[in-house]
Amino acid sequence: MGSDDGSLFGLGRGSLTAIGAIMVVIGLVLFLVAATSVMTPTSNQFDFAAREAQMNSSFVTAIIGMVLLALGFGALRLGMIRPVTTYVASEASPAIERVSEAAGEGLRIGFGGNPLRSESVVKVKCRNCGYLENEDAIYCGKCGKPL
Ligand SMILES: [Zn+2]
Repeated sequence: MGSDDGSLFGLGRGSLTAIGAIMVVIGLVLFLVAATSVMTPTSNQFDFAAREAQMNSSFVTAIIGMVLLALGFGALRLGMIRPVTTYVASEASPAIERVSEAAGEGLRIGFGGNPLRSESVVKVKCRNCGYLENEDAIYCGKCGKPL
């Protein structure tokens, strides 16, 4: 099938995408026409021959619509495969790195292993009992004497 540069039968990626889109639209229209024609009752509900003929033509239209849809999606995928891989390579991997970095940071904080945070808390030593109390404390938490 197609070569690596995304061309098929000498068609460029842009025209492949356009043709794919047109085929998908036509396929959808044919499919909808077939579906509505199946649901629309015939002039005579008891004319089974006419009903069967209508069902058969609708079936053929639906099949053509599905084939066009499949071909259209194939052409679209072929035309878009390069932009998608480029996007994954350039955009997704930095995002994945950022996510794993953030997860690592969260784990460090969660386990209390952030050294900057614990060292930034200043303690004052009680002159009476030697208990280490927080800097903003007025009274010692152990002996109750003012700091
Ligand atoms: Zn004390």
